[in-house]
Amino acid sequence: MESIIDEPVIEVGIVKSSGISIDLRGHYIISGRGISPRTITGAIDLTVEHTRVTLKQGGKNVVQSNEIKLVPQTSTARAKVRDVIIGINFHWQQHEDQLFNGFLRFYAEENEVQVVNGVLLESYLLSVVSSEMKSSAPEEYIKAHAIISRSWLLRQIKGREKPDNQFIESSNEILKWFDREAHTRFDVCADDHCQRYQGESRIENRTAIEAVKATRGQVLWFEDGVCDTRFSKCCGGISEAFENCWGPETHPYLKPVADIIPKKGFSIKKVMNEKQAGAWISAQPDVFCNTTDKYILSTVLNDYDLKTNNFFRWEETLSQQKITSLIYDRTKRDIGTVTALVPLKRGPSGRIFSLKVVGLKGRFTIGKELMIRRLLSDTHLYSSAFMVEPQYEDGSKIPSSFVLKGAGWGHGVGLCQIGAAVMAFKGYNYKRILAHYFNKSELKQLY
Ligand SMILES: [Zn+2]
Ligand SMILES: [Zn+2]
Repeated sequence: MESIIDEPVIEVGIVKSSGISIDLRGHYIISGRGISPRTITGAIDLTVEHTRVTLKQGGKNVVQSNEIKLVPQTSTARAKVRDVIIGINFHWQQHEDQLFNGFLRFYAEENEVQVVNGVLLESYLLSVVSSEMKSSAPEEYIKAHAIISRSWLLRQIKGREKPDNQFIESSNEILKWFDREAHTRFDVCADDHCQRYQGESRIENRTAIEAVKATRGQVLWFEDGVCDTRFSKCCGGISEAFENCWGPETHPYLKPVADIIPKKGFSIKKVMNEKQAGAWISAQPDVFCNTTDKYILSTVLNDYDLKTNNFFRWEETLSQQKITSLIYDRTKRDIGTVTALVPLKRGPSGRIFSLKVVGLKGRFTIGKELMIRRLLSDTHLYSSAFMVEPQYEDGSKIPSSFVLKGAGWGHGVGLCQIGAAVMAFKGYNYKRILAHYFNKSELKQLY
């Protein structure tokens, strides 16, 4: 296939700190406004003084500017950035030295130095795919994921000026779609908000390295652009439409699909009403992601998520006291004792994207799916595809608790990770896996 563009450079926000120490292994050219270019190597320190970045070496000022750039003179030059904090806000947060190829850019923000690494896209992908994928995952699954990550990245490079989240709040309605807030002065950050990136420090996963190399330059394409390649852990049997979770636009390649390669005479009906939702959620359809195979799951889920056993079909009970306090905490609304949770609108996977909450003192509707999942849980419900069964005690007309019976894990749009891994174990290749979830898209070699 011919190449259409050159391999892009992606700019990654690495760390922001009041003081940064870097060991330059090899020669770099310093540039920036008001700086006459010169070369530098060895240990350097960066701080902010009067809203300008100061680069020092051996305690002495070398240059000072609003923005400073260091460009390597050879392909073997590397920058070792000291004490980068990884896993911000996670229980395992720690400091680590990290090694970067490509250029570095520094600017001052809120009296701190922001470090940005400009790196070729494939080199960036090697790092993120090898830290996010288990080495035990099947190669075709990792290849599919590499293509998804690459496509997603190319959209981020274009999308720095995305509009804010859509948010409507009135006395009787809370409606919010969620999307990642875009960064403005770099393409992606290095933490889980975007994709975890640790430079060259941890590229050890051989399967991931092979998968990224084998799919170099390939993206999912629809009509005249790169696809918005969403994925979630488990669709629950049918994937969800983009517009019910993410934003008020439709993508023909993100239409709901039953998570199975249909045999002749076999079909799964998409959920259209409450009766069908009830039947679907209480069923155990024979679809790819309906698996309890511990080995397969261990190759896809991280150790923390592996503690979750029932995700294809699950059940949660909320006491009256719990649900009242969750609603008050989340919305600051006092609607009194909750008498009903009424699904108003569901997508084809059974996911609710508009829910009416009725109390003795008030009522409101809430959407879309992530808002619903956050409203009814201390963290998130597994999904918004659930049926509500109010429980009554001693002939009372007020429910004492609500049992939620649900399906799937995550928003369900695009690729189903557990389903895709099962497909790979069954022998489907990455092209077939991607064509299954991103129906109507095509693979394109961009470079
Ligand atoms: Zn980010
Ligand atoms: Zn699935």
